[in-house]
Amino acid sequence: MSNVNAIEVLKSCEAFLEGHFLLSSGRHSSAYCQMAYLQQHPDKSAEVMSLVADQLKDMDIDVVVGPAMGGIVYAYELGKQLGKRAIFTERVDNVMSLKRFSIEPGEKCIIAEDVVTTGISSLETKRVIEEAGGICLGITCVVDRTKPEAPSPIPIIASAVKLDLPNYLPEECPICAEGKLPLVHLGSRKMKEKAVQSING
Ligand SMILES: [Zn+2]
Repeated sequence: MSNVNAIEVLKSCEAFLEGHFLLSSGRHSSAYCQMAYLQQHPDKSAEVMSLVADQLKDMDIDVVVGPAMGGIVYAYELGKQLGKRAIFTERVDNVMSLKRFSIEPGEKCIIAEDVVTTGISSLETKRVIEEAGGICLGITCVVDRTKPEAPSPIPIIASAVKLDLPNYLPEECPICAEGKLPLVHLGSRKMKEKAVQSING
């Protein structure tokens, strides 16, 4: 399956939206990912994760580790498809921890994320793996949004989709200049519904 098809699956469940969005940074973007919308469809999640699993077939892996919340479902699905153990890390008093599981010294681990933008947040999960004596082989993710000029500090071994989504200062936004699509403020469910309506016409 190609990138295009994976994007089509994401679009079909509104995990990938196209339009005109105000990001929390104040910049404008023509697209937005909300990966929780993919994981509410187990069949579609499995379909997308099969692209990732295919790339890992020949890799010697013991454990898939998903940071809560975003990584839990994708770690589980990947573990299922690879026939490996799947666990998750979570915040305890705001510190990423291995609260309910253990990693044996020398176990080979991959991190499963939903979206990787800078890769910096995965460093905490890597620390947890290494503190337990595990070996962190790298990151897998549904959507790789890293930019070539700012690669992830932990290598991304496999992803279902690579997306380079530009964002703009409001005064330089070409979508504003075109004046056709209203600017959608993210974070409000109602606004997201509106955005979908405006996309679907
Ligand atoms: Zn704009």
